[in-house]
Amino acid sequence: MKPMGAIPAEFRDLPLTIDGKPASGFAAQTPVFVYDFGVVASRTARFRAAFPGVDLHYAVKANPYPPLLAAMAPLIDGFDIASGGELAMTDGFANARSFAGPGKRGAELEAAIGAGVTINLESRGEADRALAIADRLGVRPRLAVRVNPEFELRGSGMRMGGRASPFGVDAEQVPALVKRVIAAGADWRGFHIFAGSQALDARAIIDSQAHTLDLAARLADSAGVPPPLLNLGGGFGIPYFPGELPVDVEAIGEALLPRLATMPNTRFAIELGRWLVGESGVYLTRVLDRKESRGETFLVCDGGLNHQLAATGNLGTVVRRNYPVAVAAAAPGAPTETVSVVGPLCTPLDRLADQVELPVAQPGDVIAVFMAGAYGLTASPWEFLGHPRPLEILAAPAT
Ligand SMILES: *Cc1c(COP(=O)(O)O)cnc(C)c1O
Repeated sequence: MKPMGAIPAEFRDLPLTIDGKPASGFAAQTPVFVYDFGVVASRTARFRAAFPGVDLHYAVKANPYPPLLAAMAPLIDGFDIASGGELAMTDGFANARSFAGPGKRGAELEAAIGAGVTINLESRGEADRALAIADRLGVRPRLAVRVNPEFELRGSGMRMGGRASPFGVDAEQVPALVKRVIAAGADWRGFHIFAGSQALDARAIIDSQAHTLDLAARLADSAGVPPPLLNLGGGFGIPYFPGELPVDVEAIGEALLPRLATMPNTRFAIELGRWLVGESGVYLTRVLDRKESRGETFLVCDGGLNHQLAATGNLGTVVRRNYPVAVAAAAPGAPTETVSVVGPLCTPLDRLADQVELPVAQPGDVIAVFMAGAYGLTASPWEFLGHPRPLEILAAPAT
């Protein structure tokens, strides 16, 4: 038997309920992703309490499901987008938008600048292209400079600073670029500094934010203008695996707030994806077959790696560990066994859970894979092997 991560507190009751309703009610057709909006709302409320006065941005790429975006829009200040597709998905909302990402196409820049979206410039070449497009459109572009900092977020699942990078402008070159965009008549919006992702250690985030503030102050001094907005990045992680603990966001807020007073002419934003939506999602897949092979029991399900790549350990993980999973309809105290939960694909990589202890399940039973709200369906190769696209459901109280 191998351990699995902890089930999020909202889903620990058995049989499993989502948004207060039995999970089986969402599983008429499987596989299905169910997003419990109450979980998202509780995360945004927790952010507001911990970071009063700081803008909250949502990184759309974590989960772009349209009904989720619509439900989130009133609870957040801005959408951070990373493509023309995400631009289109967020067109209907009044929220501020900023557009980051290397390799923005001309047509994407044109659409974003025309819509008044802040462009987080990733290079000098991109600044030149953006200025030329704005000139042609006859609009004053909103431009911020994404900085490639000289430090990185310690303990980050994905390090994005402190080295040569396709992301952002090396800190040393930033003051000259800021002067250039201001001289060209652009509406300079400030800095975007993103040092990493999926960090659980509050101390590491506190240190990274302190470095970010120092760096922004130094760059502003050299450029001669305070930034109107400083996007501090995010990087708040969620505990996927055994032994991991949730990040102490209140400690981060306490450390950050007094520091913000050192830049009185600047607004601050934190951009989060995973932390806001990751724990809201439950992926439900039905057992099609139960088989024994050389002393191991396998539950073969109707979805796997094609929908939940990360849970199978194939999205940026070095060592495969088990996400939390459950048998949705199991009663408390039901007899358990050691099983592996696998998907329907013809590859040994398609393993949702490896030798975990679960209540005994039969074909027809539904397995829940938790932590499925961020980087799930849209970060998975759902067309691989030609199975249908899974359903998605936003579970929210009726209004
Ligand atoms: C992906 C991304 C985020 C969101 O990261 P999470 O780990 O999901 O919070 C935030 N900012 C930028 C620039 C990103 O590329």
